[in-house]
Amino acid sequence: KVRVRFAPSPTGPLHIGGVRTALFNYLFAKHHKGDFILRIEDTDQSRYVEGAEKYIVDALNWCGIPFDEGPGKEGNYGPYRQSQRKKLYRDYALKLVEAGSAYYAFDTPERLDFHRKDHEAKGKTFIYNWHNRLKLSNSLSLSKEEVQNKIDAGEDYVIRFKSPQDEKLVLNDLIRGEITIDTNVLDDKVLFKSDGMPTYHLANIVDDHLMQISHVIRGEEWLPSLALHHLLYNAFDWQAPQFAHLPLIMKPAGKGKLSKRDGEKGGFPVFPLSWNESVGYKEAGYFPEALVNFLALLGWNPGTEQELFSLDELVQTFSLDRVNKSGARFDPEKAKWYNHQYLQKKNDSELAQTLLRHMEENVDSFSVRTLDLGYLTKVVGLIKERADFVSDFWELGSYFFQAPTSYNEKAVKKQWKEDTPKIMGQIISVLEGIDAFESVEIETVIKDWITKQELSFGKVMPPLRLVIVGDMKGPHLFDILDLLGKEESIGRIKTAIS
Ligand code: GLU
Repeated sequence: KVRVRFAPSPTGPLHIGGVRTALFNYLFAKHHKGDFILRIEDTDQSRYVEGAEKYIVDALNWCGIPFDEGPGKEGNYGPYRQSQRKKLYRDYALKLVEAGSAYYAFDTPERLDFHRKDHEAKGKTFIYNWHNRLKLSNSLSLSKEEVQNKIDAGEDYVIRFKSPQDEKLVLNDLIRGEITIDTNVLDDKVLFKSDGMPTYHLANIVDDHLMQISHVIRGEEWLPSLALHHLLYNAFDWQAPQFAHLPLIMKPAGKGKLSKRDGEKGGFPVFPLSWNESVGYKEAGYFPEALVNFLALLGWNPGTEQELFSLDELVQTFSLDRVNKSGARFDPEKAKWYNHQYLQKKNDSELAQTLLRHMEENVDSFSVRTLDLGYLTKVVGLIKERADFVSDFWELGSYFFQAPTSYNEKAVKKQWKEDTPKIMGQIISVLEGIDAFESVEIETVIKDWITKQELSFGKVMPPLRLVIVGDMKGPHLFDILDLLGKEESIGRIKTAIS
């Protein structure tokens, strides 16, 4: 059975790379009717951030990719928080020591630092491995008694993995294919510390094994750990899961990986953790479906031109062999495009409700209580074609909510002629004479009038838009007049010519 896990460390808000990893795990699991597990890797207490776990759970739920097993959703393999599994790891570390695959090391940080500097001075890099380990203070260079005495005396120790010498490892990655590694470049990674805590490597392997994970799908930044993980599975004599390392997400421009510091350009989190960030995708107005669709195509492609996928369609279509090897460039414009597409699909009254909430929260100079939902729904219908986000409605359509307080100067220069006030005055009477004040009717009457007066449309329509909207933008002018109503429309013309 396919069982995959998303295994974040609760060190802060979930960033876009993490969500993409979670999403690919989810899609792979659901495609194969398998399980998607959330495991919290909180063994490094110095990096623990209060509230981050809840944040991760909320973010996954908001994205619509909930986990089947995890904290608060206990399955048969819990607990799902490594801090609660703490007592488990020591035995596994000791097993490796007994088998000769790992050893105790007592080197003080000062001693290690000394070796590092000493090597540096000679232009070399210090690696704790087969080449150096016998010169250091560990159970490979000390007698059994010496080791026991140190442990009994309560000396700090770590348990290190004994990386093999002169071996060629052939590793397999479902996305990258075969990878060959020379074990001489590996260092003897710390697996366990005397404070009773395992490191990431040990806890991760033990848990993947115990939780019967079939596929490990994670970011490319973990590729350098693959050799060690492979060796650990061998040392335990366990069958390793299959591995797939997802391409990095690259900055929109230039070189390098997308980072938190690229905030506005897409690096920001799903939604902010209140204590250190102010904007996330949610606050920026992204629909979760749009974000998910966008992220799915960040490193994966369906092999066709199709760009819009519902979550169900993604589940149907997703496969690891269409995940790219090379980095995926983050394109903020594309993210917006996706949101635009999803916004077009929403129904107007639903959008109007979101808009009302948005205005209540953000537009303080305005008494939104005077707006009714029916009116907002019509506004939304008229301008949504131009909107990427619900928050755009306010800027795109402010003239639906308040009369212009100023007029675009350039447009005034161009459109406002000597006879314009007179013509606008006449338009007032024309509008007054219309009983059924509706777009098509208004259009017919005004156009007939223009023809009869032997005026050009250019003399009437642009200045009329200017006095109604304040600018040359906006949808069909007669639709705007219709929605504003007779009284408001006439009032705006009067204000402009008085
Ligand atoms: N805890 C690791 C992280 O924070 C998990 C890496 C993995 O999936 O093996 O990304």
